[in-house]
Amino acid sequence: MEKRKDAVTMELHIVCIPGDGIGPEIVREAKKVLEAVARVYGHKMIFEDILMGGASIDVHGVPLTEEAVTRARSAQAVLMGSIGGNTSTSPWYKLPPNLRPEAGLLAIRKELNLFANLRPAVLYDELAAACPLKEEISSAGFDMLIMRELTGGLYFGERRTVVENGVRKAVDTLTYDENEIRRIAIKGFDIAMKRRKKVTSVDKANVLDSSRLWRKVVEEVAAGYPEVVLEHMLVDNCAMQLVKDPAQFDVILTENMFGDILSDEASMVTGSIGMLASASLNDSKFGLYEPSHGSAPDIAGQDIANPIATVLSAAMMLRYSFDLDAEADAVETAVKQVLKDGYRTGDIMSPGCEQVGCSRMGDLLAERVN
Ligand code: NAD
Repeated sequence: MEKRKDAVTMELHIVCIPGDGIGPEIVREAKKVLEAVARVYGHKMIFEDILMGGASIDVHGVPLTEEAVTRARSAQAVLMGSIGGNTSTSPWYKLPPNLRPEAGLLAIRKELNLFANLRPAVLYDELAAACPLKEEISSAGFDMLIMRELTGGLYFGERRTVVENGVRKAVDTLTYDENEIRRIAIKGFDIAMKRRKKVTSVDKANVLDSSRLWRKVVEEVAAGYPEVVLEHMLVDNCAMQLVKDPAQFDVILTENMFGDILSDEASMVTGSIGMLASASLNDSKFGLYEPSHGSAPDIAGQDIANPIATVLSAAMMLRYSFDLDAEADAVETAVKQVLKDGYRTGDIMSPGCEQVGCSRMGDLLAERVN
């Protein structure tokens, strides 16, 4: 493939975390597709691998070393496979919680200040049969992005369990300050500007003070984005609307716990776990990009994993960390084309299609980048 004449050469320094289970297989295919992007658009990919999760425990005795964090911080973006093993049988899960594979992921998110989590939920025409919604709803299609605040709210508030007058009592606190809300709202509106320019801010402002502040600050931020349509929606209504009329959503902007629940709901209505990308961003262009699924130890090493979620995460990286929108479009179009051409990995297989392995799927995707 020839380099495009109009291309401006960029060097992309990407730290990769292959991780555990199917992680190394799916990251290898995503790199293949990124190399195809580099060839077609005239960029240079500089990949560097670091260990995290079980792979790091096996070598260093801890799920994440300081050196690995330093190397991740020195890159422009991080592309991750997945970490963790079989939680019932792997010896990693006999270790104390702070030394288990998942502790590495929590630590890197904290170290890199990744406060914004993005999970797109897209229904591809060719996979519509996997969508659990009624056909009259799924036929409208959907393409939304859930932007979840990741480092504040109920999950990070003070908590305690006490016994008062012989009665056990547990307390969790939900706190947000305006700066935490403003920075995620800005991210949400910036990203809406790259999409269909609609933000649905989801809260529980009829009950919670934190939601009332959320709403006020989101409105202040919205004033700087006159092209973006803002609507507010209560979280209980949003949970219903996601299954009743998902086509109405573009960017859903919400706090940590609501986002946790809604992003799982939105991803399940696509019906295809091997297709779901995600990104976690800080307030610069830096981000960690990874599939939404886990390390699938049950199918590791068999060349049958679906690499598309990781490839789509790499497309998000091109768009959000490098502002390479045309290149990101090219990867997303390659995914659509491969599905249209009838190729499927086992997890999304349907009658009349050709089943291919992980590596072949990577080749087919790379060939279609143009
Ligand atoms: P999982 O997502 O790994 O697997 C669930 C099911 O989906 C399995 O049957 C698996 O084979 C299948 N699957 C997942 N990804 C697939 C793909 N790309 N192609 C084809 N099939 C795919 O969830 P789990 O089994 O609950 O977790 C396994 C491990 O992954 C655990 O250690 C868990 O802690 C870890 N995990 C890690 C992350 C992360 O790194 N961010 C996220 C979730 C789970």
